[in-house]
Amino acid sequence: MILSGKKAAYITLGCKLNFSETSTIRHSLENAGVITVNEKEEADIFVINTCSVTDVAERKGRQVIRKIIHHNPDAYVVVVGCYAQLRAKEIMQIEGVNLVLGAHEKFKVEEYLRFYDARQQQEPHSCDIFKLGNFDLACSFGDRTRCFLKIQDGCDYFCSYCTIPYARGKSRSATIRQVVETAKSVATKGVKEIILTGVNTGDFGRGTQENFFELLQALDKVEEIERFRISSIEPNLLTDDIIHFIANSVRFMPHFHIPLQSGSNEVLRLMKRRYPRELFAEKINTIRTLLPDAFIGVDVIAGMRGETLAYFEDAFSFISKLDISRLHVFPYSERQGTKALEIKEIVPPTEKHQRVEALLKLSEQKLNQFYARFIGKTRNVLFEEHHAQGMIGGFTDNYIRIEKEFDASLINQIVPVTITPELLGKD
Ligand code: SF4
Repeated sequence: MILSGKKAAYITLGCKLNFSETSTIRHSLENAGVITVNEKEEADIFVINTCSVTDVAERKGRQVIRKIIHHNPDAYVVVVGCYAQLRAKEIMQIEGVNLVLGAHEKFKVEEYLRFYDARQQQEPHSCDIFKLGNFDLACSFGDRTRCFLKIQDGCDYFCSYCTIPYARGKSRSATIRQVVETAKSVATKGVKEIILTGVNTGDFGRGTQENFFELLQALDKVEEIERFRISSIEPNLLTDDIIHFIANSVRFMPHFHIPLQSGSNEVLRLMKRRYPRELFAEKINTIRTLLPDAFIGVDVIAGMRGETLAYFEDAFSFISKLDISRLHVFPYSERQGTKALEIKEIVPPTEKHQRVEALLKLSEQKLNQFYARFIGKTRNVLFEEHHAQGMIGGFTDNYIRIEKEFDASLINQIVPVTITPELLGKD
């Protein structure tokens, strides 16, 4: 296929990592002369970057693929991402899909399209995920004021409910030098904030004789970037050294996202998580002592196989006492090929739903309490390019979403804002 002059649209489902990878794919096609258009416009090529974290995510992926094909019957449809790596053959069976590319091949979309021959019987292209050793750096520069920079990929943890290690392979990462150079390079394009992303971010440096703490220290010297955040870090990898370092850093924002998954030690064991809840509570206490204003987001899964009512109630009571800002609640999802399927006790769907609802309510209370502490206080907000319905939005250093009437002079500026209830936005 001759690519120059063709139009392509990109759809990203799932996490920030996918977001950064879609950007990298888009840049490779733009370098080949492909024009980027909005997904609602007419396009010759559609690249759909899928997610596989739950069965709902996969279903949504199939729906999006079908919808795109329905509205654009003549377009080339390329499907990449975790769902594409895990269920390539299933996706190829959807009539109208032209290419399915796995975890490594997705970064060669341009090459595959260039040599695409519609007359050939189409095959999914994916590698043996556990043989995948090379790291493909990705960065979302060009999309926003904030840039998602992928520093690590894959995971060696094999939590019993999770398919990500099968979709993304072994833990591997960029080098500190590569990350620092990329940070400096995006700074020249006007980016002010970088969010470090990965599957298991704190595991950075596996196989390269470097570690995550050293990476943070190196990035802290990149004066061209005003703000850094860590997208998420496993509690057992969030060392006291890292917390102390962030507390004393000007560039690393007081913002943590830590997956707990369950507040019951019995359920944590069933999940094959690598810490007891006491360690989690210690981390939260250390953060609160050193960074009292920090935003702390916590992931929790409700209704895991084996989570009895007593375990859930114990977990709920533990989480209620944690001084955190918000919960990200996920209903447990049955995933083909995972160890969790060997656990016999299943939580019925209605019960699972009630547990999700209870946790969401708790999260709302915690978020309101957190926000209330900052009413009348002044914090620095980085306003983003994205604005909708006459509004412009951005985040404070400690991750409070602020929205105000659109003012073009605020775009990509860090300005002090005195927080009022009216300015609190929804992120
Ligand atoms: S740490 Fe556990 S939940 Fe997170 S990606 Fe690895 S296996 Fe999945």
